[in-house]
Amino acid sequence: PADEIIAGELAQTPEGRWLDHATAARLLGHYGVHVAETIGVDGPESAAEAAALVGSPAVLKATGPSLVHKSDVGGVAVGLLTPADVAAAYRRMAERLGPAMTGGLVQRMAEDGVETIIGGVQHPGFGPLVMLGMGGTAAELLADRVFRLPPLSRGDAADMVRRLRCSPLLFGYRGRPKADVGALEVQLIRVARLLDDHPEIAELDLNPVIAMPGGAVAVDVRLRLA
Ligand code: ADP
Ligand code: MG
Repeated sequence: PADEIIAGELAQTPEGRWLDHATAARLLGHYGVHVAETIGVDGPESAAEAAALVGSPAVLKATGPSLVHKSDVGGVAVGLLTPADVAAAYRRMAERLGPAMTGGLVQRMAEDGVETIIGGVQHPGFGPLVMLGMGGTAAELLADRVFRLPPLSRGDAADMVRRLRCSPLLFGYRGRPKADVGALEVQLIRVARLLDDHPEIAELDLNPVIAMPGGAVAVDVRLRLA
């Protein structure tokens, strides 16, 4: 099934491409990677309907071929309590972004947690590498990240988590709730297996994977085939 998804996409565009959110989530789902339930919408009405399905509070994100860093352009609205709030947020975004916004994604808002990044890159010498990093707004400044060759054992994944300089944040730093580190490690192992099995994945960026007391969930998914 994962092979079919990849072959199908590459048959359409042999030069490779970024997958849409739904297709990338389906591919990750075949490996048991937990992605937040996400509904694609195309206007304020369908956004409100989707909000009623995912539950409250909801998150709305603008989509469009040129929208890469959605929050940089005001394309992410979190903490929307009612379907009407989601519809209103859609109208505001569409007005601000103009034709660059071709649709949206509606998700249930995840619990509070620590934002991490799980990624994959193709290294010219080593082949696929799996990355774990700290996410959040200071991610690029801190550049707190660790790379490994897949596949990963349980011990490898545990070691990656503990090598991050900011790993204390995951273990209940200064009275914060302790994240489900085991769930984060499982996500990492599953992503590594996906990368190991499919060298056609040129880039993968799960940013963020929110590590919460009750699990770890990817809420933003980017995957490029080549
Ligand atoms: P982008 O990276 O394109 O700006 P994201 O989808 O990563 O867009 O959203 C930006 C930020 O919004 C995330 O880093 C996270 O802090 C927050 N966010 C997005 N989706 C959710 C969600 N479902 N639950 C909680 N927070 C979210
Ligand atoms: Mg993101």
